[in-house]
Amino acid sequence: MAGSTNRSWDQIDRPEARPWDAPPQGLVVDRIACDGYGMCAELLPELIDLDDWGYPMIRPGGVPDALLDHARRAVAVCPVLALRLARDARR
Ligand code: SF4
Repeated sequence: MAGSTNRSWDQIDRPEARPWDAPPQGLVVDRIACDGYGMCAELLPELIDLDDWGYPMIRPGGVPDALLDHARRAVAVCPVLALRLARDARR
């Protein structure tokens, strides 16, 4: 059947094929790469605290939609690319 829009079970089972139940994005810090200057916490204090040594501590629960643009900005300014947004923030 040419032009069919039916999807196979393989396609349906992939997370990107199920955007309606995708988990919220969360912030992930590469603790090896992070230099601890805290620029991300200055831009996103709602979700990022600094520990006693100046390293970021991400609040659990993912990034609310209202803060996604701020989170993207915090990711963009990280000078060592240690901060990223991920669907599965446990990684
Ligand atoms: S901006 Fe990047 S390097 Fe600086 S504290 Fe945040 S994650 Fe670490």
